[in-house]
Amino acid sequence: MLPFSLIYHDGFYLPLGGHVFPGEKYRLIQQRLLETRVAAESDFVRPQTIAMDDVLRVHERGYVERLVNGTLSEAEILQTELPYSKALVEASLLGCGGTLEAARLALRNGAACSIGGGFHHAHRGHGEGFCILHDVAIALARLLHDGEIQRAMVIDLDVHDGNGTAAIFPPAGKHRRESLRYGVASGSMMPSADGVFTLSMHQQNNYPMYKPPSSLDVPLADGTDDAEYLEALENAMQGAFARFRPQLIAYVAGADPYVEDKLGGLALTIEGLKERDRMVFRAAQSAGVPVFSVYAGGYAIRVEDTVTIHANTVLAAAEVFSFHGATSC
Ligand SMILES: [Zn+2]
Repeated sequence: MLPFSLIYHDGFYLPLGGHVFPGEKYRLIQQRLLETRVAAESDFVRPQTIAMDDVLRVHERGYVERLVNGTLSEAEILQTELPYSKALVEASLLGCGGTLEAARLALRNGAACSIGGGFHHAHRGHGEGFCILHDVAIALARLLHDGEIQRAMVIDLDVHDGNGTAAIFPPAGKHRRESLRYGVASGSMMPSADGVFTLSMHQQNNYPMYKPPSSLDVPLADGTDDAEYLEALENAMQGAFARFRPQLIAYVAGADPYVEDKLGGLALTIEGLKERDRMVFRAAQSAGVPVFSVYAGGYAIRVEDTVTIHANTVLAAAEVFSFHGATSC
């Protein structure tokens, strides 16, 4: 049995037809975790769908109403790059519930992994880039609202910039270039007014074209490999933790920095990505900060590679937290 919970629901399935986003990946990851005995049935927690009050704490009412009622304009639907359906909205609302459950269980047990979530391109008033509702922002906003936490950090390692997160939690302070040891990064190194520090490490020459400033942005060159990536990550996390002490970490563990990803241009291996995951969990553990992970993107040529990379995130958490125990604030 794992020392933390996995949050999963068959309803996470995204009905997208032949879309590049493999909407069936969540079920495949759950199956893989069970088949390989990384997890047992008892490790999985079934979330409830998110409450509308929680959604409206982050998203604009008009947008949410059009989304739920099926009255988005054609331009709004095009911007999501998804085939609209009410079933898709239901799945997204359930995914948001899963991410909130993961955040709560992390606060209670030190760690948790959602087998879903990570829709970091969604903005307050529109969806884009395969994301219609920002599950991580919704979860953090709820916990901040309830006073369960005052300070959170988002560590976003999807190959694409976390533009929705940065727009929803705009950093305070003056934006400037940081000269960290590995090269150029930028940001104010300050959290948003509501207490969220955003760290986005992404491929610079990739979607989205406009990248609003995060607290710390680490843009990577095309073809960045395991060694360069892991060094940049180590330095970025050191820099972030030196300036900001979160009470909860949301880890956006995108699988798309993978060398064989259709929408990514970095060159990480499956083993390099697993080491990335271990580093994030180790950093959280050594700082004594609860952490939860969500999955975001993954568009490997072979779907089974995306499944392996995502399943490895759970395995990495198990390796880190089984040896030393999960921390709790
Ligand atoms: Zn992505």
